[in-house]
Formats: sequence, structure tokens, C-alpha cells
Amino acid sequence: MSKSKSPETVKVVVRCRPMNEKEQANKFERVVSVDVKLGQIVVRNPREASASESPKVFTFDSVYDWNSKQIDLYDETFRPLVDSVLLGFNGTIFAYGQTGTGKTYTMEGVRNDPEKRGVIPNSFEHIFTHISRSQNQQYLVRASYLEIYQEEIKDLLSKNQAHRLELRERPDTGVYVKDLSSFVTKSVREIEHVMNVGNQNRSVGSTNMNEHSSRSHAIFVITVECSELGVDGENHIRVGKLNLVDLAGSERQSKTGAKGERLKEATKINLSLSALGNVISALVDGRSSHIPYRDSKLTRLLQDSLGGNACTVMVANIGPASYNMEETLTTLRYSNRAKNIKNKPRINEDPKDALLREFQEEIARLKEQLQKRSGEKRKRKQRRRAGEGSDGEDLEGETEDDDEDGDDKGDYWGEQQEKLERERKAIMEDHSLVAEERVRLLKKKENKMEDLRREREAGEMLTAKVKAMESKLLVGGKNIVDHTNEQQKILQQRRHEIAEQKRCEREMQQEMESHEEETLELKETYTSLQQEVDIKTKKLKKLFAKLQAVKAEIHDIQEAHIRERQELEQTQNELTRDLKLKHQIIENFIPLEEKSKIVSRAYIDEEDEHWKMQPITRIEDEHQMMTRPLSAVGYRRPLCHHARVAMMMKPDTRYKAENIQILDMDLPTRTTIDYQEPEIAPTVAAALRDALRDEDEIQVDAFGFYSTLGPTPPASAISSLKKTKSGRPRTGKMSSSPTSPFSPSSPGSPLYPQCRGLVPK
Ligand code: ADP
Ligand code: MG
Repeated sequence: MSKSKSPETVKVVVRCRPMNEKEQANKFERVVSVDVKLGQIVVRNPREASASESPKVFTFDSVYDWNSKQIDLYDETFRPLVDSVLLGFNGTIFAYGQTGTGKTYTMEGVRNDPEKRGVIPNSFEHIFTHISRSQNQQYLVRASYLEIYQEEIKDLLSKNQAHRLELRERPDTGVYVKDLSSFVTKSVREIEHVMNVGNQNRSVGSTNMNEHSSRSHAIFVITVECSELGVDGENHIRVGKLNLVDLAGSERQSKTGAKGERLKEATKINLSLSALGNVISALVDGRSSHIPYRDSKLTRLLQDSLGGNACTVMVANIGPASYNMEETLTTLRYSNRAKNIKNKPRINEDPKDALLREFQEEIARLKEQLQKRSGEKRKRKQRRRAGEGSDGEDLEGETEDDDEDGDDKGDYWGEQQEKLERERKAIMEDHSLVAEERVRLLKKKENKMEDLRREREAGEMLTAKVKAMESKLLVGGKNIVDHTNEQQKILQQRRHEIAEQKRCEREMQQEMESHEEETLELKETYTSLQQEVDIKTKKLKKLFAKLQAVKAEIHDIQEAHIRERQELEQTQNELTRDLKLKHQIIENFIPLEEKSKIVSRAYIDEEDEHWKMQPITRIEDEHQMMTRPLSAVGYRRPLCHHARVAMMMKPDTRYKAENIQILDMDLPTRTTIDYQEPEIAPTVAAALRDALRDEDEIQVDAFGFYSTLGPTPPASAISSLKKTKSGRPRTGKMSSSPTSPFSPSSPGSPLYPQCRGLVPK
């Protein structure tokens, strides 16, 4: 069931900030004048050449000049919107305008100055005051804070600030941010804390806060759920969502020297804002059936607020100085278009995703559990009173329905503990028991005590949980008789009435102004022809001036369009150039078949407008690779259980999964022979032996070694000095005999330098 309001247009208000110190010091001319009573903004061109040009006039729902107070804006413009959120409508407040014109000032204001607090803190106060004054209603308030920067959504309340969130859509609840954290808040202080944490995360993430905030959109979301007993005797839940949006600066981002990443950044920065403009144009146009909500994250997220079921207020912020004139005019034109968007606000009653319902159900479930526990407890108590000494037997005692449960909670557990302790002592002192029996009984008692303790803890935990959950549900009516509260309420009512009256006056004056020409004509009765001519000439002049103004406006808009088109063309050229490079690389350096494989796997994800790759293995597709059957895991092909067991029992080739036999390697037959040194002639050998025998003092290690064996080394030993070591062909492993003192690598040999393994032998 949903109740709806009559269709209403997006409310657009304009606020002009005061001249800042720099502008005053430089003596900039003020080109904006504000007629608060008529709701008009007049911008005149300060240039000499255009002195003849008539000033540009824009009419809005309300306008605020540099003297406007934050609270006036709140009472006149935002309070009715927040009131409708409290009734269960969705509401959105946008702050639009050039950087430095007061968007953040309007939305947040100066934190520590109650007079300069913006819409967000004022709405906190409003919501919680409303709740405290309510009667027979239960509320749940939660807050989220997110930021959109370069088309990426960041959760400002999450611990992991590097994480980017995605948008999802459900047919019942519409577009939402997946995994966005939201905090249930019980008071103004708590929700302010949430806002401060988000603001800190916003500034920490950027090197230059001003630059960052001028390029990103911040959205603070307050969800108010209210449960009330309906006439049908059922509890009904209404959910109102308030989006408070501080948009990026509307000025054109400079794209000088845009290249690569910079270009990508430049094309993304204002995408959400231009998409917002396109959505507004499409909505106002009325001819186009397609509204390009999907073009950006911002428009998708706030789809409801533009032509949807929300109440929307747009605050256009402008600067008064002459050098801002172009941007001021663009802002005024932009917001002038938004005035004509029609919304159909509707109360969200009993939505599926109401957190309040979940809370209520969970509390009821926990309470039931507690009830059960206390029921059991009472049973046991009765049993105890009946004087039954036997433990462990189940006695079916009727529970008496008394409400004294809460009072005896503490002593019940105490008594039980004392009783168990007494029994334990009695067992200890009872000497008639056999030791084993005593141990058994003691163990039993200890187990019982442990159970008792656990049960008590569980009960306490349950109670604490119920209390914590209940404390989050807010109920009003506590200090309804409070005198000051009553007075405040009356005061607010008066303020509201005054605001309403002002609005009516303004509307009437605007109406009068527009009908002026007609009424003038109706009232006039011409006494003479000349008078008729005079009056009609006057009227003609007026209409001509109007026509000129409209013509000038058309001219300006056309010029603005041409400028915009030129910029878009330039961006397009740059992007085309970029694309050509990529194309060239692909055509020349990526193999054709690889390219076609990638192309056949690629698909566009409609959700987030990204190209993604299909996985190579897809089970559902028969033509693609399938997963291996269970009986083939670890084998080349499926094997039956019998074969597997048979293989384990005895390695039989019959059951091998492969018809490959594992055989030992055949070593190749030797085709070489060892090098044989020529025989040394006996005479030479004898001469050598003689010579060696004569020169005892020559100390050669090798001989030293042999001298321990005998007086003369054998001839073979001498020859082995020159022999190659290996008996195997060269292809074999190099064998070295580490025990041989003749080995070149043998350490400590003074005869041969030690090999460092650097030079191949
Ligand atoms: P934006 O968020 O649009 O970039 P800010 O809100 O940061 O602009 O405002 C820029 C400066 O102008 C701030 O110092 C702010 O205090 C001041 N300012 C803006 N609007 C007003 C106003 N209505 N009254 C007083 N000071 C204002
Ligand atoms: Mg700002």
C-alpha cells in the first residue's frame, strides 16, 4: 500500500553569497541583484559595450541574498522537505554551483557556530526533536556517507578507504550501492560523529582538499524508519530517505595538456554533472521517452529524485562579482530548467528491506528465548520448594504465571550456587563414602556448577543483547509535558507559518507580475483613439523589450551550446587519437588468433558499463571444456574403483590408466677406450729411480705419501699423475676422488694451485 502526494515540481532556490575579502579588496563590481520578495535574480552585464543590453532576469521558487541566515533557509525551504521524509517520503537536497559559491557552506556550514550550521546538522536536530516529541511510534535512524569521484563510489564510513563500491538494481527497491555501510544512530551527537568521521576520510584521501571537493560529489544519506500501529491493528513501517548532496563544482574543468591518464581524468570529472544536466533536459523536454539515467553513477543513484517518487529541492549557489558572471549565468540557466521537472512523491510503506522490521523480529525472538529460560528456571525453583532432594529427575511442575521474575533473578543464581557449594562440602566431609564414589560425586557437582555458570552467562548475554537492540529503537513522548519543549514547538510552528506566508506572498506577486499586461488591458477603457494608441505603444514597447530579452537569451544559449560542442569535439578528437594508437598496437603486435579469442570472450557488463572476459572453462556450455569427473582426479582418464584397488595391490599393467610401461633406462654401450700411456723403457725407469733415490731432500708431497708405504713409489703412481681421472666416457658424471692426495682440488697441496672453478677444464 502506498499513499502519494499530488505531483509536484522540483523546487529550485538560488542563494547568492556575499563578496569575499579578496573581491572587496580588488573592488570587483557586483553584477547580481536579488529581489527576495519577488523571487527574482537580475544579472546585468558590466561591460560598457553592452550597456544597452537589458539585464537578465530569472524567477525561482525563492531566492536568498548575501544577508540570508542559515536558519531562514532551513525553515522556509528545507524544513517542509525533512518533514515529508519523516512521513515516509524520499527527499533530496542538491547544492549546485561553481566552486567557492557556498555549496558546502549551505549543506554543512560552520561546525561550531550554531548560527552558521548548514542543512545537514539542522536536519539532525529536526529529526531527533521530532522523534522525541512523537507518541506511540518507534523510530530507527541510520546514516551513510559516500563520495563519487571520477565515476568511482567510495564509502566514507568504511575502514578500507581503497575499496570501490558498485551500483546494483533490484526490481523492488530500485538502485542501491552494494555493501555501503550504514550506522544506526540514537542521538544528534552520534549522527554528528558519523558525519565527522566521513568528512575526515574525505580530506585524508586527498592532497588538496579544495581541489578534491570541487571535483567530487558527496552524498550524506539519512534513513528514517517509523513503525506505528495502523487502524487495522497491525504495525506498519514507513521509510523515508533523505539524500543530502554536495555536488562537484559546476565550472568547466580545464583540460590543458590532457594526455593519457590526465585525459581520462578530464573526461570523467564532470561526467556526472553533464549527465545530470542531460537528465534534466530530457525530463523537461517531454518529447524524449528515454531519460539517460544510466549515463553516470550520480544520476543512477538519484534517479528517484529526478522525475521519480522523491521530493526534491535544488539550491543553486552563485557569486555576486563581475568576474564570475559567465558561470553565474550558466548556473542560473541550468537551475531554471530544473524547475520544470515533475516528481510524484509516494510514501514508502512496509518495504521489504526495512531494518526496523528485522530489529523488531529479532528482539521478539530473543525475548521469547529469555522467556523460555525463565520458565525453566521457575520450574526448577518450584521443584526445589517442593523439597525434592533427588537430582537429575525431571519433575513436571506447572509454572505459575507470576511477574516477580525480574526481582529474584540475582538471588536465584546465588542460591543455586550456594546450594551446590554446600552439597560439595558435604560430600567432602562425608567419610562414609568410598574414595572413588566421592570423586565421582564431586565431579558431578562440579559439572553442575559449570553448567549453571554457563547458563547464567548465556542468559545475561541474551538480556544485554535485547537491551542493546531495544536502545537503538527510539521512542518519543518522554518529555512531552516539558514546558520549554512545548514553547519551542509553538515557536517552530510560528516560524513555519511565517515562512508559508512569505511563500504565498511571493507566489501572488509573481502571479500578479505575469498577469499585469492582461489586467492592464482589461482595466483600460480608452477615452480617445490617441490614448489607445499611446497605451498600446507602451505595451508594445514592453513586449518588444521582452522579445529582445528572449532573443538575447536564445543567442546566449546558442553560443553556450556552440562552445560546449566545440569542447566535446576537441575531447572526441583526443580520444579518437588515443584509440587509433591502441588500434595500431593491436593490429601490428597482437597475433590475429589471439585477438579473435579475446574478442569472442569479451562481453559488456550492463551493470557497470565495463568490458569483462568470460572464463575459459564454462561448465554450462557443452562445447567448452568440462570439469574432470571425480574418478579421474589424479589420473589421466577415469578409472573404476576395482582397477584402482587392483593397481594398489599389485602393479599390473592391465589396470594402468596409460599403456605406457615404466622401464629402467638402457645405458649406452661403451664405444671408447681409456688412454694408455706408452710403456716407459726399463732403462729410463731405472735411471729415474736412481735419480729419485739420490735426491732425498726434495720434498714433494706425493712422494712423501708414497715414502710412508715404501721406499719407492710404484711406476703406475708416477704415471697416474698425468693420467685423466675418469674411467667412464666423457658423457658420464665426473668422478673425482677426494681421498686422493694427488687430486688437483685436494686442499693443502703446495704443488698445484687450487682450482676455483672459474675456468672450465
Ligand atoms: P563551495 O563548497 O561551493 O566550493 P564553500 O561553501 O566552501 O564553497 O564556500 C566558500 C567560502 O565562502 C567559504 O569560506 C564560506 O564560508 C563562504 N561563504 C559561502 N557562502 C556564504 C554565505 N552565504 N555567507 C557567508 N559566507 C559564505
Ligand atoms: Mg565545497
